[in-house]
Amino acid sequence: MAMRQFKAESKKLLDLMINSIYTNREIFLRELISNASDACDKLYFKSLTDTSLGVKKEELAIHLTADRENRTLTVSDNGIGMTKEELEKNLGTIARSGSLDFKTENPSDNIDIIGQFGVGFYSAFMVAKQVTVISRAAGADEAWQWSSRGVEGYTLSPAERDTCGTEVLLVLKDDTDTEKYGEYLDEYTLSDLVKKYSDYIHYPITMYREKSRQKPKPEDAGDDYKPEYESYTELETLNSMVPIWKRPKSEVKDEDYNEYYKSKFMDYTDPLRVITSRTEGTATYTALLFVPGRTPYDYYTKEYEKGLALYASGVMIMEKCADLLPDYFSFIKGVVDSEDVSLNISRETLQKDNQVKLMRESLERKIKNELRAMLKNDREKYETFWKAFGRQLKFGVYGDYGMHKDLLAELLMFYSDKEGKLVTLDEYIEKMPEGQKAIYFAAGDEVERLAKLPNAELVRSKGYDLLLCSEDVDEFCLQMMRDYKDKEFKNINGGDLGLETEEEKKAAEAADTENRELFEAVKTALSGKVKEVRANPTLQAHPVSLSSEGGLSMEMEKVLRKMPTGENVESTKILELNPGHAVFEALKAAHAAGDADKVARYAELLYDQALLIAGLPLEDPVAYAQLVCGLMG
Ligand code: ADP
Repeated sequence: MAMRQFKAESKKLLDLMINSIYTNREIFLRELISNASDACDKLYFKSLTDTSLGVKKEELAIHLTADRENRTLTVSDNGIGMTKEELEKNLGTIARSGSLDFKTENPSDNIDIIGQFGVGFYSAFMVAKQVTVISRAAGADEAWQWSSRGVEGYTLSPAERDTCGTEVLLVLKDDTDTEKYGEYLDEYTLSDLVKKYSDYIHYPITMYREKSRQKPKPEDAGDDYKPEYESYTELETLNSMVPIWKRPKSEVKDEDYNEYYKSKFMDYTDPLRVITSRTEGTATYTALLFVPGRTPYDYYTKEYEKGLALYASGVMIMEKCADLLPDYFSFIKGVVDSEDVSLNISRETLQKDNQVKLMRESLERKIKNELRAMLKNDREKYETFWKAFGRQLKFGVYGDYGMHKDLLAELLMFYSDKEGKLVTLDEYIEKMPEGQKAIYFAAGDEVERLAKLPNAELVRSKGYDLLLCSEDVDEFCLQMMRDYKDKEFKNINGGDLGLETEEEKKAAEAADTENRELFEAVKTALSGKVKEVRANPTLQAHPVSLSSEGGLSMEMEKVLRKMPTGENVESTKILELNPGHAVFEALKAAHAAGDADKVARYAELLYDQALLIAGLPLEDPVAYAQLVCGLMG
């Protein structure tokens, strides 16, 4: 029989996996049992529309057989089975090409790459030197055998099997000094592994177990009779089958939830929060939801698929039902089980399904409340959550034309200049000194730089706090909100801050009038780069500053220009000069002496400096450098 080769990609991955990726070998059993359970689900599902299959739900089961003499372990099921073509297709290619790259880019021992990329079946090679799969597809009248010893390839040949289903037979590797593969033939080990990883599988996982019992006492036994024992075998169901979300919360340990989360959603970190919910009324469902403890590696990419597993009375009908979650809570993982959802609902009808809509609304409220509770009662955890998924909530405020801003606003956090840590908007408002009317923020790349902006000092000098917003989405989010609890958001580089005293205002006006000609000259020299030149006496030690007018700030301009679509937008800039600064005197003197050339050079220099301070790119860095050098010559 000709040996068939695995696809090249598969070969490399298989080799990697067997030899290095996964240190936790025992999960192979969970993977094989999950496949068997999926196969039972699929058969049951198919039987709903095809009664000729004659499937009885209560007969679907998974069976384990350990044969110590031959060192084999078998996992068999009476599920849907596989045709010859399916054996070839499903077991002849491993994962997709992205998996290898991912592993190379993320070299960590803990990554459960098997789970993440659906190469579960191949985990069998971590403990087996040979794997043989005998399968007969539902409705087919022939069975096929697939067999492989690992990377070299596999063989396919006709086989015998009376009913549909699959049998996966592992010939365990030989024991070495450090690795005892033989333990997977031990009844106790197997039973423990099933409890640990597969307890919620809703088909019985059975195994014959060796037991011992006392022989009945013979009638004629004398006084010196000693009880005798005999051994026998009994078919035992190893798993409790009740889905974990159907068990009363008081009976389930935190570890059970964590273990369930990790195996079901392929994560290696515990969830930050477990949310359980049972509702009756308009939307009747049981939900078990999780807030993950870290950002999935593909979370902020197009590849990430949101959704909750949807069950109808304990039977899985959809792995990832996107319609149950709004985008801003797309990080939530979990299961929703409802009696009201019809078993053969399709993706298309789902969107219009009223029950699904009611469930989504109810889940959204629940999630929001849980996040709020976490913020209130477990600050540290909430901050971890915020670092992982806060950006998504900010996108949520901005998205859909701000429709969800009221729902999300109280969950937001920003970095506080005064407190040196993350604060909520409520906390910011609570600490506002009397007289402060607005919420001040600065937006740019880095918190450290933002804290040094000329106007940051001005805000600080009033005893006000300042939110330092260093993510691209921040300003868009705040602008969409406009205000929070009647306090307007003000960008400290956005012109009118309402912070000047009456005297300062008057001084500014006087300086503007006095220097009108000079300011016109500066504006002309900058030929269209700024809309206006003004005096700003509140700049303190800084000679110059840029502010913007209207809805589009300088930072937003920068963000939009960076976008892949390269938006060609421009903010309306105002150049502010400090009339109390020595530099201003020099400018004034040049103007008074009629040295238009010098005024133009100074104007260019000051404008470029203002750009640098604002964290904006210089239009012509070489020209700027030459200007500075010119000053030294
Ligand atoms: P995954 O289960 O993540 O898709 P696997 O490598 O574990 O990846 O399995 C590949 C495919 O082989 C499965 O998707 C399924 O179609 C098929 N398969 C595996 N085990 C069985 C089984 N016991 N019965 C029927 N099909 C199976």
